[in-house]
Amino acid sequence: VKQVYTFGGDARHDDPRARDKLLLGGKGANLAEMASIGLPVPPGFTITTEECVKYLNEGADFSDALRAEVAGALGHIEKTVGKKLGDAADPLLVSVRSGARVSMPGMMDTVLNLGLNDETVVGLARTSGDERFAWDSYRRFIQMYSDVVLGLDHGLFEEALEIAKEDNGFLNDVEMGSKEWHALVDEYKAIVVAEQGEPFPQDVNDQLWGAIRAVFDSWDSERAKIYRRLNGIPADWGTAVNVQAMVFGNMGETSATGVAFTRDPSTGEKAYYGEWLANAQGEDVVAGIRTPQYLTRKAREDASAKPLSMQEAMPEAYGELEQVFGTLESHYRDMQDIEFTVERGKLWMLQTRTGKRTAKAALKMAVDMVGEGLIDEATAVARVDPMALDQLLHPTLDPDAPRDILGRGLPASPGAASGAIVLDADTAEKRAELGEAVILVRIETSPEDIHGMHAAKGILTARGGMTSHAAVVARGMGRPCVSGASGLSIDRNARTVRIGHRELREGEVITLDGASGDIMAGEVPTIEPELAGDFGTLMEWADGKRRMRVRTNAETPADCRMARQFGAEGIGLCRTEHMFFDEDRISAVRQMILAENEKGRRAALAKLLPEQRGDFHAIFEVMAGLPVTIRLLDPPLHEFLPQEDEDFEELADAIGIGADTLKRRAGELHEFNPMLGHRGCRLGITYPEIYEMQARAIFEAACDVAAQSGEAPIPEVMIPLVATRRELELMRTLVERVASAVFEEKGRELDYHVGTMIELPRASLMASEIAKEAAFFSFGTNDLTQTTLGISRDDAGRFLGTYVEKGVFARDPFVSIDRDGVGQLVRLGVERGRAERPDLKLGICGEHGGDPASIAFCEEVGLDYVSASPYRVPIARLAAAQAAL
Ligand code: PEP
Ligand code: MG
Repeated sequence: VKQVYTFGGDARHDDPRARDKLLLGGKGANLAEMASIGLPVPPGFTITTEECVKYLNEGADFSDALRAEVAGALGHIEKTVGKKLGDAADPLLVSVRSGARVSMPGMMDTVLNLGLNDETVVGLARTSGDERFAWDSYRRFIQMYSDVVLGLDHGLFEEALEIAKEDNGFLNDVEMGSKEWHALVDEYKAIVVAEQGEPFPQDVNDQLWGAIRAVFDSWDSERAKIYRRLNGIPADWGTAVNVQAMVFGNMGETSATGVAFTRDPSTGEKAYYGEWLANAQGEDVVAGIRTPQYLTRKAREDASAKPLSMQEAMPEAYGELEQVFGTLESHYRDMQDIEFTVERGKLWMLQTRTGKRTAKAALKMAVDMVGEGLIDEATAVARVDPMALDQLLHPTLDPDAPRDILGRGLPASPGAASGAIVLDADTAEKRAELGEAVILVRIETSPEDIHGMHAAKGILTARGGMTSHAAVVARGMGRPCVSGASGLSIDRNARTVRIGHRELREGEVITLDGASGDIMAGEVPTIEPELAGDFGTLMEWADGKRRMRVRTNAETPADCRMARQFGAEGIGLCRTEHMFFDEDRISAVRQMILAENEKGRRAALAKLLPEQRGDFHAIFEVMAGLPVTIRLLDPPLHEFLPQEDEDFEELADAIGIGADTLKRRAGELHEFNPMLGHRGCRLGITYPEIYEMQARAIFEAACDVAAQSGEAPIPEVMIPLVATRRELELMRTLVERVASAVFEEKGRELDYHVGTMIELPRASLMASEIAKEAAFFSFGTNDLTQTTLGISRDDAGRFLGTYVEKGVFARDPFVSIDRDGVGQLVRLGVERGRAERPDLKLGICGEHGGDPASIAFCEEVGLDYVSASPYRVPIARLAAAQAAL
């Protein structure tokens, strides 16, 4: 099978493999696509990811077949351009770049200007008519090739450049003339010989194959591995290699290079957005070495910047670029992120891909594009990543709060973050692991910093534009970022930073506003997010497309209110034990637990009844008209016991018994394996008076709210940790008995249901029996995961990380449901339960109810609803809609 595909010139793309993203990588496939719709793309070829995987697995040398294919494809470039690689009179130069299936910004290697040597540099000087350009290109090539392919320390070359400038009394690279570049090339070649004992490769074919090998190898570089792990990218995808004729943005003032987005990736505004530099090569823009200029006049004016925009400086090439933007958006029907070069007035496209965007921009673009007729509602719903909504649901800085502004940079990634200043990625990771909020402060970030950026709440850099590494990565991660803060300097030895005229030590707290670029001293208060506008529109479309209902896990009126604002359609889990910890009742709870007999327990429960009734009353008021699932007491009782001696004494005084007696009784409650011990319905069966009190509180509160407001809640009383039918039968009878008694006392009958959690493997297996007693099942997948895998959810932290790293689990099974194992039990429970009782209501209330992948599974097995914590409710609404599409 063919492993090399050409594009540009008269290359044909009829073979489906010639446009396959999985095979050619995103960059290669899109270059071919752009060429095929008539956009100006320099000719080139792509070596497939299959070949990379083969190379990495077999480690063998390249096959003759591959060498022959590459030679043929190189011929395509040479014929199209009319130059030959290695031709001393008129040399072809090529770039060699990586390109995986999904973009991994800056993670893998690139070599530019390949094909230069001591002879071709002379030819290039003559054909370009620019000697300075030729020698500058050659020194760039040696520098890049030595770093990427030969593995030499790039610091050595940078140092030599600095010394050359100093010796000549120059401040900037632009002052270096052809003589100086030529001298530096000699210097560079000497460094190569000194470092590797061999001269810089002069054979252009060796250069080419060296670069191809380096790109393949870079798939397994440390930073690429970290990036893959953070982004869930499989190690066996491999990268493609793109070899393409060079075009030069550094051939004088009529040449330029830039990156652009067809819409603003921060706000989603329909405005061309980007950065460019005249007389520069591509890497200069993204690396943040020179500060790039604005693309459009409006953007420049808005920022009151002086250097001319591309629109003003190169109106013709810019006009062509605008047309390309239009063509690309109508072709891909999505916002594109592109790289381009202008060589002596002629525009060339070097890359296009679907642009990364903030959650806010994703929403706005999705909604706008429906309005523009570019996409339909279903596409809009499918396009927004549910987890990205998280960025929008969290608070932003209170605009009215006082701000002690230290300085300002570019608003590179929105959101607000406060945290302690840390100066390097390792420190960021360490301190974040200890639970501290940190802000990573760097001169500029590189791919090596990625773990620290992930650990930090926010990122601040002194250099780099809106498309710098820091900005792109931060937006992708949803971390607020302020970049290019020119007033920022860092003293790494003293571990201090200077922002404007103020000096701060590492560890001092600052706040970043990624929307304005403000850097503030201390912590600034935040306000709640805006849920109307585009968010509201998209959620409405999502609601129209989903089948499953979305409820919330909440147990305070405030959380319930918040969840309703987020669109919750009921409560799927109210964990009553959380109510037992409140200060005004913990003493009565302890009295109940430590009582020697039923009489003592009942006395304590009598004190708890009004409190518990009050809790339910408040929740029912908020949730009137909606189902409210209340789970009766679940955790092992010793969790409520005092820990300290003085608490025991205080409690002993309150009950009027000796502290020693109390401690003895507490000792009796000790369990070796409490999570498999005396908990859940086992409490209700041994101490029925506890569940009786809770049931009474529920029904009294429900009757009171119904009498008060005319709108009754629909209580669903849920029995935890059921394994057998008989357990549920006992508890259901108890609840029904209490309900009848309360209804008689109150003179009012209410609708209610009794059901159970399915959180033990036996309960799933015996679902048809258990369904005889249950009006509903709620899958408690936290415990079901724990009991199915035999992994304690409280102790798993010690080894789960390693398990995921070594591929035992693709993801933490407590975060994303283990479809194969636990999922099978859920499926069984659903099938057997429904077969017995077709109207059985089915839901999930484990943490998985807020995880998009698990929600897709719930849709597949046909659950009626998912229940998620309040902030996850919108995520669940969108994920449920996507699952139903
Ligand atoms: C569960 O086990 O999934 C559940 C929701 O209950 P808890 O997390 O309270 O044990
Ligand atoms: Mg549970």
